[in-house]
Amino acid sequence: MLGASGFSSTNLSNTVAVIVREDDSIVLVDAGLSEATCSNPGKSVGHLRARFLGIKTTTADSVAVQLEQLGYRRQAVKAIIATHLHFDHVNGVRDFPSAELIVSKDELDAFSWRHTDFGYDKRDLKLEQRIVPVELDGDARDGFARSLDLFEDDSVHLLDTQGHTPGSIAVSIATSDAQFMHVGDAVYTVNELNLVNGSPISRVIRWNKDKYRVAASALRVAAKTQTLVPSHDAATFAALPKAPRARRAE
Ligand SMILES: [Zn+2]
Repeated sequence: MLGASGFSSTNLSNTVAVIVREDDSIVLVDAGLSEATCSNPGKSVGHLRARFLGIKTTTADSVAVQLEQLGYRRQAVKAIIATHLHFDHVNGVRDFPSAELIVSKDELDAFSWRHTDFGYDKRDLKLEQRIVPVELDGDARDGFARSLDLFEDDSVHLLDTQGHTPGSIAVSIATSDAQFMHVGDAVYTVNELNLVNGSPISRVIRWNKDKYRVAASALRVAAKTQTLVPSHDAATFAALPKAPRARRAE
């Protein structure tokens, strides 16, 4: 997992999952903020928004640069799975020229039509030619009403967690010895699952309360068998295995 502790006022992390496949191609879950945004957040996301969110980053915090420092080429990233399309999750997609962006169809529809959502930034996908919308039309799985076995090999499952946004998904990843679930912003912290109605930040930034509750109850069950990883949960990030453990591509 890679992260940037760039949200200084509240010390939020921004966790990206890195999946190195057997053919050495890389799949990311989310892409964080781009290299350009990290080098100058005020210019890229707006000075007001950057100040409001307290974003303090440098170029080295971008996922592309962190991967390169670990010995991975950014061209090796062939797919990015978006948990949802808020800018702090997909702004960095532009740094990966060989990657297609996999996103739930519901989320892409919301991104296209909801102009009032503070978290969507139309510029993020403006030039994007490689969007692959997917329907979660597989069976119910682990308490989630809809799912998709992305590579049809049981390694990566997309799970319906709509609530935070209309098409939010969680991504369950099986490694050789453990099971992780990147949940995006379905909940902001694992501890939030102890609160019936979510944390204050979740209550402010969510599209649908009832769907949020459905997702949260499925996540409570999932937490018993796998490690849940909310994007901005700094405590969870600190306890995760970090990317250098993986084999490096030549
Ligand atoms: Zn977020």
